[in-house]
Amino acid sequence: MKVHEYQARELLRSAGIPVPPGVMIDSIDQAAEAYRRVTDEAGSGPSGLVVVKAQVHAGGRGKAGFVKLVRSAHEATDAARFMLTHRMVSVQTGPQGLEVKRLLVAAGVEIAKEYYLAIATDRKTRRNVLIASREGGVEIETVAHQRPEAIIRQPLHPTLGLLPYAARRAAFELGFTGKHVGQAVKIMSSLAGLVDAKDCSLAEINPLVLTAPSNAGSRAPGKGLKAGTAPGPPDGQLLAIDAKFNFDDNATFRHPDIAAMFDPAEENPAELRARRFGLSYIALDGTIGCLVNGAGLAMATMDIVKLHGAEPANFLDVGGSVTADGAIEAFHILLSDPKVKGILVNIFGGIMNCDVIAQGIINAAKTVGGGGFKVPLVVRLEGTNVQAGRKLLESARKDIPTMQAATDLADAARKVTGAVA
Ligand code: GDP
Ligand code: MN
Repeated sequence: MKVHEYQARELLRSAGIPVPPGVMIDSIDQAAEAYRRVTDEAGSGPSGLVVVKAQVHAGGRGKAGFVKLVRSAHEATDAARFMLTHRMVSVQTGPQGLEVKRLLVAAGVEIAKEYYLAIATDRKTRRNVLIASREGGVEIETVAHQRPEAIIRQPLHPTLGLLPYAARRAAFELGFTGKHVGQAVKIMSSLAGLVDAKDCSLAEINPLVLTAPSNAGSRAPGKGLKAGTAPGPPDGQLLAIDAKFNFDDNATFRHPDIAAMFDPAEENPAELRARRFGLSYIALDGTIGCLVNGAGLAMATMDIVKLHGAEPANFLDVGGSVTADGAIEAFHILLSDPKVKGILVNIFGGIMNCDVIAQGIINAAKTVGGGGFKVPLVVRLEGTNVQAGRKLLESARKDIPTMQAATDLADAARKVTGAVA
């Protein structure tokens, strides 16, 4: 599960990591008020620097023009209008882009230097690892690719997490001196603590910034400006100004606070629909809709479709215990995808019975729009109750004229790719 940046910032703040104040808005007319609130809270002084940022589950916003620095309520409103009325196309979204429904309006900071900091799982060593770089910012992917030596890695201890010496070593390698070493160590330790406490599969701060000296807008929230004190520390401080978290879906049941951050608007509607029926569905770009039970068989089915020269439109595992209703829902999801030009049903009845799937096909044919499958349907059934299943399909043949039976997997792939060619 992913969350928005404004939610990620909340998590950082709750763990004691300094984050500039900000508010989430979802309409253009909230922008001016948000600008005023944020500048008041930050004590931004005469600069009035604020940043307006699109909240979508994709990065690359800066380069796409969806992170904008503004210096007045009027400019904030203009930025909000642009972002809420244009789709954001970035390197991470694909050419169709994403609709932007929420924005973060946050205190802007004068940046002296940008760093990268993350905790991710290293599958090779089967450990979490702290990843850091003194070349953080929007070019981090290029840096990692072209100069891997600029990326620092410190493995976490399997049970003790990020040990103090490892955090200090990373802080020194990042080039921090003086009080910034302590600040960086505290941020790294807090981030590691969050990963552990909230079952994160990824926690990333990019950029972590060192603010420019005497930057009034850079104070951590909570340190209210007392009358007569100079605004901001004179030597800069470390602040997180962008963050990304991924959470282990299998663990969200024990984190109601994280589950509450789920934003269905950011999900593929068909994938959401499938989840409600306990189906594992991933939308892909091809033309062959696949309905399969078991993840392994689903992968094999996708492979054999490709082997026969076509591309799968999806991964769909209906699982071992699908009901007739679940099966109908699965067909509805496949048939609601305009890219699907043919459907391949590949069922091995182990725990599941073939007649349940056969009944699902028949009922789906009755209930889908226009009555019946408009696209070719190839069915391969094998296993428990296969005779009963075949008999059911045979008797429904006149209602489903586009249906063909296949004898085995290769025959099924040949028939369905032939039918859509
Ligand atoms: P991303 O492109 O989606 O990762 O969005 P970020 O929030 O990381 O912003 C991209 C870049 O915009 C950062 O690397 C900074 O260089 C710049 N930026 C973001 N916020 C501020 C800010 O408050 N002040 C300044 N000066 N630059 C900012
Ligand atoms: Mn970023």
